[in-house]
Amino acid sequence: MSITTSQVAIVTGASRGIGAAIAERLANDGFTVVVNYSGSAAPAEDVVRKIEAKGGKAISAQADVSDAIAVARMFDSAETAFGRIDVLVNNAGILKTLPLAETSDEEFDRHFAINAKGTFNAMREAAKRLQSGGRIINFSSTTLALNMPGYAVYNGTKAAVEAFTHVFAKELRGRNITVNAVAPGPIATDLFLNGKSDELIAQFSKMPPLERLGQPDDIANVVSFLAGPDAGWVNGQIVRANGGVA
Ligand code: NAP
Repeated sequence: MSITTSQVAIVTGASRGIGAAIAERLANDGFTVVVNYSGSAAPAEDVVRKIEAKGGKAISAQADVSDAIAVARMFDSAETAFGRIDVLVNNAGILKTLPLAETSDEEFDRHFAINAKGTFNAMREAAKRLQSGGRIINFSSTTLALNMPGYAVYNGTKAAVEAFTHVFAKELRGRNITVNAVAPGPIATDLFLNGKSDELIAQFSKMPPLERLGQPDDIANVVSFLAGPDAGWVNGQIVRANGGVA
């Protein structure tokens, strides 16, 4: 690849799951990586150590993405440490499935604060700070296309993310920055696996015609493409990476 080692990527929610795989993949691609987390400090440090062990460059950065001041501080730290920011991957997110009628105000607010406002907070900072040639990669979900019971609030947050993606791509006209989103299907991470029976997990695994559960690397591969030189003409798109589920 033709990425220089001086390009810098911030990956939110990179202590575990899909974000950790993205951080490691972008480091392999040559990016210096900011490994964001909110509470999982030790796992985030492990990701940094794994990257360094392979000769890559990374730092961890604690920031709750729902907190605009903390997000601005994280961008400040990245600029101070590395002098530039080229890529933002808005991966941090939460999911608790519940029928809409049983969802508390607190759960509704928490989902929108992290998934929607968190994405907004980081995009707003990125607009001020990303270099020409930069990339913003947001996270939606294939659940938005499936309309399964229990996903109303989560899907609402991801619908907001898709709307932000389409509009922001146009608002950044003239900046040479692309804005896209990835919408994974079921991926074997805590977010998907927690609280599901083996039987239910087996059902989800059979949904795609490729008949398996996605793995974090399946999504990291897509993010690597969108962040890399070959995706320069892909802008304002939602990429469903789900083995053909929808
Ligand atoms: P995960 O395994 O639960 O990991 C979530 C990551 O987000 C962790 O690193 C967590 O760090 C971080 N995080 C959570 N709240 C945060 C906050 N307020 N501020 C900063 N970081 C925060 O989830 P995942 O499955 O990898 O999901 C990643 C993204 O993919 C999410 O946007 C999710 O909606 C989307 N997605 C996942 C699936 C799937 O099946 N797994 C499918 C479609 C879409 P801490 O532990 O430090 O909080």
